[in-house]
Amino acid sequence: MKAIVKPSAGPGLVVRDVPKPSCGPADVLIKVRHAGVCGTDLHIAEWDAWAQGRVKPPLVLGHEFAGEVVEVGDAVQGEFSVGELVTAEGHIICGHCLQCRTGNGHICQKTRIIGVDRAGAFAEFIAMPATNVMRLDGIPTEIGAIMDPMGNAFHTVLTADIPGSVVLVLGCGPIGCFAVGIAVTAGARAVIAVDVNPKRLAIAETMGATRALKPGPAVEAAVMELSGGNGADVVCEMSGAPPAIHDAFRLARFGGRIQLLGIPSGDVPVNFATEIIFKGLTVYGVIGRKMYETWNLMQRFLKGGRFDPRPVLTHRFPIDRIDDALAAIKSGDAGKVIIEIGA
Ligand code: ZN
Repeated sequence: MKAIVKPSAGPGLVVRDVPKPSCGPADVLIKVRHAGVCGTDLHIAEWDAWAQGRVKPPLVLGHEFAGEVVEVGDAVQGEFSVGELVTAEGHIICGHCLQCRTGNGHICQKTRIIGVDRAGAFAEFIAMPATNVMRLDGIPTEIGAIMDPMGNAFHTVLTADIPGSVVLVLGCGPIGCFAVGIAVTAGARAVIAVDVNPKRLAIAETMGATRALKPGPAVEAAVMELSGGNGADVVCEMSGAPPAIHDAFRLARFGGRIQLLGIPSGDVPVNFATEIIFKGLTVYGVIGRKMYETWNLMQRFLKGGRFDPRPVLTHRFPIDRIDDALAAIKSGDAGKVIIEIGA
């Protein structure tokens, strides 16, 4: 089968033939139709320090996908049917540790990620443990393919109290833009979206942002105006940029909640006393998707039709053009970038 492969330790990717995976007894074999390209894939392609420490080539990349069930393992017969359209949680967890057994599998320390720690979804076929597979139930595969990153946005937004809240979203990459739409749909009173890139701000506006602003004094003015001078009830920090992290603490109201999803590239000095403690803030670190309440909520929002993520999908490429897909992400102008494989 054709796949996008990191062939060896060093920069670059190749499209080449690799063996089709076999379907283990507890697995579902899926013919991939659409796959989402992520910043993680760019890190692996460019072979940065993180990738060098984590990835063991040769490896098939890709951790966001949706497709069609073509084979069901012997131990999971009856759970899925051939021909069903599905997506999957890309974090494969141990199922036995304290976190896994207390409903916190998203922080399982033995997590293995497809396309990072084992063969991924930029391929014509992928075998997934049936426990990770989710029926799409009418959701198109193009949207199914982005439910992994969109799930990060659902996890970020819906673990805070949103109805009636003033929500500040710092960083409008694809996950930030999803977060804007989710907060609007969940009943936020106002959603203020902030990014340095005007193309991303335009997407955030399409997703329903009350205001879409570049960083600067206008952001504080908007937050104070829309919150009656209190500050934001909920801040979703999606950028990882140190100035934005300080803005998150500064623009949250006293007693507000900070959802941290963006990953800073290094240490960020924080004045814990003035920025967090004296303001009585609650800070929550977002990693992955809650298994599986985030997925359940996401399916309900998508099937209800009131939340439409499609404005965030800006680029589509065939599998042979992975380099163009990565260039689109690197430009900073793209929303979500999709690879069409067996569509
Ligand atoms: Zn575990």
